[in-house]
Amino acid sequence: MLNQELRSFIFDGPPLERTLSEANPAFARILDKALSGRELSAEEGLQLLQAEGAELRALLRAADTARKLDVGDCVTYVVNRNINFTNVCFVGCQFCAFARHRKDADARTDSVTTILAKVAEAIERGATEVCMQGGINPEMPPLFYRDILVEIKRAFPNIHIHAFSPMEIFYGARRAGMPYREYLTMLRDAGLGTIPGTAAEILDDEVREVLSHKKVDVRSWIEIVTTAHEVGLRSSSTMMYGHIEKPHHIVQHIEILRSIQRQTGGFTEFVPLRFIHTYTALYQKGLVNPPPKGILDLKVYAFSRLMLRPLIVNVQTSWVKLGPELAQWSLATGCNDFGGTLMEEQISKSAGADAGEYLPVETIQSLILGMGRIPEERTTVYGRVSRSSAATASCGPSWGSGRRTLPAGASVVH
Ligand code: SF4
Repeated sequence: MLNQELRSFIFDGPPLERTLSEANPAFARILDKALSGRELSAEEGLQLLQAEGAELRALLRAADTARKLDVGDCVTYVVNRNINFTNVCFVGCQFCAFARHRKDADARTDSVTTILAKVAEAIERGATEVCMQGGINPEMPPLFYRDILVEIKRAFPNIHIHAFSPMEIFYGARRAGMPYREYLTMLRDAGLGTIPGTAAEILDDEVREVLSHKKVDVRSWIEIVTTAHEVGLRSSSTMMYGHIEKPHHIVQHIEILRSIQRQTGGFTEFVPLRFIHTYTALYQKGLVNPPPKGILDLKVYAFSRLMLRPLIVNVQTSWVKLGPELAQWSLATGCNDFGGTLMEEQISKSAGADAGEYLPVETIQSLILGMGRIPEERTTVYGRVSRSSAATASCGPSWGSGRRTLPAGASVVH
């Protein structure tokens, strides 16, 4: 399918029943199994990822039906601000164009004063969350992450801080000389609300060796995330696709996430992230030939919805990676969350993403409404936010955490 055909299918294509009847019967049985709420096997997942033609159309429609069964017609988003507080990093990931050597002319690390000013500005613009991630700066003081949390919470006790990837926790714990449990507990007590499940890329050590041989290994990533969940810090879960991985790596990645979720229940959502290649070493050395945006992205989203149910019901699209239009289409192929407003985004932009750094709430709402769905602001952990008593809408099943109504202009929810 070309993107024009994809668009026609999404907006005017046949319903699920017809696509199922046109698909290979064995493939349709896998989709039926997923729609009945049973977990798919790794082998079945592989078949989903290989779908083309009639099978791909049935997969996309089945994912949309599963989304409706899981979470109804609301599409959530969070009003947040990214703070990429340092681009100094020694790790050298081949897929990253954000990092700088500490002596580079454009190396920068935000001071605490700058970070506080960014948080203040975010709150003024209605943010309920700040998302903070940065490079792995070898010159940072041993308890730098804790100290940032303390300063932010002292000034803004109600903002939700979603911060520090498992790679940052890995390095921070070493710098502090503390085991993960003790370190994460200290960060939680200093005000950390949740952690991003980033630095996951693909959870396979051979793939990671090519992407970034100094990055946290699979075992440590699992240990850090599981320990975070155990001390009460929930996290998102992510996957970077569209580089050197093969379909079986994607399936293996999902198997690991499912296994953690069965054990802890700590994942709030899954966010598939397309690899943005233009300015990365991986691309410039000719090691990857990323496919055009469109089919692969929607297939991965649909696959994710079906493979993760019933364990993770929130699948988030990425307007930064896909651009607003394709992100909008992905709402018809399994996604129920539009991510955040961001306000500042430098990691994808450095690699060549051109969707900008900020999407106003009005634009997000309009994109959601354009798909015939209901926009709904959420907290980081998928509680509801209402800025006025009239703003709440009726969504479908499985919302989980309770609805919260705040005074107009309130910025505190978590
Ligand atoms: S992805 Fe993160 S850890 Fe890797 S080089 Fe970039 S900033 Fe450093």
